[in-house]
Amino acid sequence: MIPPAFEYLRPKTVPEAIALLKQHGDEAKILSGGQSLIPMMKLRLARPGYLIDINRISGLAYIKEDGGFLKIGGLTREAELEASPLVRSKYPLLTDTTAVIADPQVRNLATLGGNLAHGDPANDHPATMIALGAQVVATGAKGERVIPIEKFFVSLFVTALAQDEILTEIRIPIPPPRSGGAYFKLERKVGDFATAAVAVQLTLDDKGAVQRAGIGLTNVGPTPLKASSAEASLQGKKVNDASMAQASQLAAKDAQPSSDLRGPAEYKRGLIQELTKRALSRAVQRAGQ
Ligand SMILES: Cc1cc2nc3c(=O)[nH]c(=O)nc-3n(C[C@H](O)[C@H](O)[C@H](O)COP(=O)(O)OP(=O)(O)OC[C@H]3O[C@@H](n4cnc5c(N)ncnc54)[C@H](O)[C@@H]3O)c2cc1C
Repeated sequence: MIPPAFEYLRPKTVPEAIALLKQHGDEAKILSGGQSLIPMMKLRLARPGYLIDINRISGLAYIKEDGGFLKIGGLTREAELEASPLVRSKYPLLTDTTAVIADPQVRNLATLGGNLAHGDPANDHPATMIALGAQVVATGAKGERVIPIEKFFVSLFVTALAQDEILTEIRIPIPPPRSGGAYFKLERKVGDFATAAVAVQLTLDDKGAVQRAGIGLTNVGPTPLKASSAEASLQGKKVNDASMAQASQLAAKDAQPSSDLRGPAEYKRGLIQELTKRALSRAVQRAGQ
């Protein structure tokens, strides 16, 4: 299907893009990889009058450690994350997640910034960023502000970004030694969105007990969810069969699934329980218990 007509704008700098967002207000949308926005336009679920293509702005795609954070530019493609030796060696949760998003064609264009800014609870990166305790950098006319990931997802397809802000960077605290993470996703077929998925990131203390647990849930609520009670249940405990069983049960309670074409709500709750157990088990193995 052909999308409705729109004006195509191609700024060369972030300030220019922000000025265009301000000028055209609710009529304008940022175009990054176009892998969510263009399909929505073709289905007439979005009808922006102005597309502001930020792909020609230099300096928005990078992956680097700096000042205690892994910093990822908003325009960094999934394929770049997947191929990054730094991400592969130190951030296995991120590599797990990127690898199960769509297919290689989509991943060549889709960006991390777009994946988060879209605010779709079915997208995979939001739960992973919740588990990692990430921060989002939003740049607008007044400069930069840093939004903790727990405050970023407001409601279905709505984020904390203001209309004239661009997501320019994602910051992930560099995990201390004895940290590990894993992402487990059930999809109906390869390349599909999750029926349900779970992201886990653990840090262990020198006795092998949990110092920090981050658990994010995909596609089981109106927004990506933080499984807070499951996280709290692991604090100070060794990860063993008993603590994993308890945390998995609590994660299933933290989920807010609804029944749809991918299955009934109770089935999805059961999935969250099982996927949490598997993700915890791999995360603790990677943390070097
Ligand atoms: C066949 C197919 C299968 C897919 N499967 C999955 C999957 O399994 N898991 C998954 O997570 N995703 C999946 N996706 C979605 C894909 O990952 C999208 O690319 C991603 O959700 C959006 O990133 P994008 O760069 O393409 O953003 P775009 O489509 O360009 O933009 C999406 C939205 O975010 C806004 N936006 C984009 N970038 C910014 C920015 N820097 N600042 C502010 N606003 C911005 C846009 O204005 C728009 O509203 C799939 C897509 C397709 C086509």
